Order: sequence, then structure tokens, then C-alpha cells
Amino acid sequence: MRKVSQIINGKRQIIKKPELLAPAGNLEKLKVAIMYGADAVFVGGKEFSLRSQASNFSLEDIQEGVAFAKEYGAHIHVTCNIILHQDNLKGIQEYLKQLDEIGVTAIIVADPYIMFLAKSMNLNLEVHVSTQLSTLNSQAISFYQDMGMDRVVLGREVTYDDLKAIMNQVDVDIEYFIHGAMCIHYSGRCMLSNYLSRRDANRGGCSQSCRWYYDLYQDRELVNQEDDMPFSMSSKDMSLVHHIGELIELGVDSFKIEGRMKSVHYIATVVSAYRKLIDSYCEDPDAFKQNDYYEKELQKAANRAFCHGFFYDHPTQDEQLFNLRDEHPTQEFVMRIMDYDEKTHLAQIEQRNYFKVGDQIEVFSPHHENLVFKVEKLLNEDKERIEVANHPMELLYVEIPEKVLPNDMGRKVKQS
Ligand code: SF4
Repeated sequence: MRKVSQIINGKRQIIKKPELLAPAGNLEKLKVAIMYGADAVFVGGKEFSLRSQASNFSLEDIQEGVAFAKEYGAHIHVTCNIILHQDNLKGIQEYLKQLDEIGVTAIIVADPYIMFLAKSMNLNLEVHVSTQLSTLNSQAISFYQDMGMDRVVLGREVTYDDLKAIMNQVDVDIEYFIHGAMCIHYSGRCMLSNYLSRRDANRGGCSQSCRWYYDLYQDRELVNQEDDMPFSMSSKDMSLVHHIGELIELGVDSFKIEGRMKSVHYIATVVSAYRKLIDSYCEDPDAFKQNDYYEKELQKAANRAFCHGFFYDHPTQDEQLFNLRDEHPTQEFVMRIMDYDEKTHLAQIEQRNYFKVGDQIEVFSPHHENLVFKVEKLLNEDKERIEVANHPMELLYVEIPEKVLPNDMGRKVKQS
């Protein structure tokens, strides 16, 4: 049984805070994830990683990421979770050695040969069992523990009751998904994309074929008519935002956010919301009151509608999107703050999406509360007045009445 809390000065306090683990598809996202509160970030190397589409990192990128993470006391995990074919064997040993020398904390592994190799080389690297192996029970976890694995990333199909039993029975680090996209099929076992588009989902090439639109036939008769909504098998996204306290109390070691393909704004928004939620709960767990603030924050990024995944039991049809994609962020990312002049109240910004004079912007930050202002003064790089910002990545100036900080982000408040 893991000791999660103890009484200190008459008050129960959490002494085992979970790691908040965020995804990153490139260096910018890695840095943003850490600045917005991630304790660790997982990235894909260019070699031996599954997500071939997810802007994978070169060794130089990983090295820069590790150095940046160290400044914040954070850690970098690298996915080496390819299912090895015979022609993938060459070069693994050297690659693991390089990751170890760079100072990567952990590799995430699916192939037993890489597990064996990493341990037999006596490296400092932790070896984490990838979710690709669909580990769902305590006996399987004990098996990996006996092999010397440092952590098991559970399959998304583990319910809360099963997780509770697992946490009572095993003595190895456990990583559990708290937020992100779900597969309609069993995670890591889907062949739909391979079959329909010849892109191998289990080697990182999934074309998300489940989310395509389909005509439905029964006995050779078309079931969905022209004016019906198109049929798709897309799952809603999982969010356990209302169950974070229960998961902390179980002593789960790491909370994983999914989405290496997601935008920098998505990562900042999601990491920031969970960071604040975890910290708030741990500060005073018995006084913590559940509320919808954090869910509303999460909805400001591009998510599909939320569901609980397998938390309660197998998802029902309520957890599926049978037709449209249903992505409705309540706000749109429009700027990243580069600098702020407290005398003139002018912020230098990097434009990310269209906005104009008169729009309401909400600035959010890892360092201060959200603040909302109306765009009254917008200047181009030569400090000449303009009315619209419509060139992505352009450097502009916006008057913001209150102090903001570099790397804060601004999102346009959608008028309902
Ligand atoms: S096709 Fe859909 S269910 Fe299959 S792996 Fe891709 S996202 Fe998952």
C-alpha cells in the first residue's frame, strides 16, 4: 500500500504528488510544456519511435530539450516503442548509449529485445513499458517488474476499480492516461488504417480511418441516406479532470497527457489546467472542492467533446461521436507574448491567428491569473497603427493595460 498523505501540523497533506507528463512533437512544444508546468515530457526520437508523423526529434534536439528541462528540474522521456522488424535491429545499442549520455531520464519501450538490451547495458536510463503492450492487470505488471522494468504505462482500457486493485498489488511505478484522444478500437491493436490506407497504425502511421465518414449498408441496402449525418466511429476524447483527486489518493506515479501532434496552444492549455488542479488538490486535499473551472479551461483548446474513457467501465455509445468531429474550442489562440514594456503598456507579440481591433483577448500564463482586455491599439513592426493582424508569425505590438510576461499566450474570446 502506497503512502500518499500524512498529517503535518494537524492537517492532512499529500506527500506523494504524481508526475505530470506531457507530450511534445517539437522543441517549441517541449519548452512550452515545461514552462506551463509539466514535470516530464515524452518525445519521439527519429529512430525506433512509433509516431512517424509527430515531428520526431534528432539527437541534437533531444540534447537541447534535456538541457532545457534540467533548468526547471524536469525530465525527458524518449519513445523507443517501435515493434521491431528484422531490418530494424541495427543501431539500437548505439542509440540507447547516446540517449543515456545525453541525460534522458527514461525510454518508453514495447519490444522485449529493447527491454533486455537497455537493462543489460547497465545504463542510467529508466525503462518504461509502453502502452502499446496493453498492460491491464497486476500479474502482467509483476512480470515486467521481475524483468527489471522501472515503470509500466497502463493501457487506456484500465478502469478505476482495476487501477485501485493494481495499485494495491504492485510495487513498480504506474503511469495512467488522464487526458487525450481515444481509439475506437483496442489501443495498439487496430488494423483499420493498415487495411484502408496502407499506413501502419502500429508503426506510427495511423491515418485515423475510424474517423472518416462512411456509408452504412445492411443487406446491401444503404442505411444512412443522403440527408443523414455521415457515419463515423470517432471516440470522444478522454478527460479525467473530475477524477484527479481520486487518482492522486491511489498513489498513481505519473499522469499522462496524450497528443504529440497537438498544437503549442493545446499543450499550454492542457498542461496548465492540470498543473493548477494537481497543485490545488495536493495543497489541501480535504478542503478541495470539485468545480468546473478546470474543465472550462480545457475546453478553450481544440478538443473533441469529453468522455471518461474506461474510467467507470467500458464506454457506451454516449462516449462516441457517430457523425461530426465535434471540435468546439471556446477560444482561439491568436498571440504569444514576446516582451512587455511596463512604461508604454505595449506588448510585443507573435501573431498566431487572425484578430482585429475591438476583439476581446484572454491572456493566460503559468505565472499569473487569466486576464482579459479589449484590443484598442494594434501596431505593426514599425509601430504604425493597423486594424487587423492577419499574417501568421508576424511580430506586432498590442497595448495591454496589465503586465504580461514573455511566453504568456493570448486567445480570442469567442462571442456567444
Ligand atoms: S484508425 Fe482509429 S482506432 Fe485505429 S489506430 Fe487509428 S485512431 Fe485508433
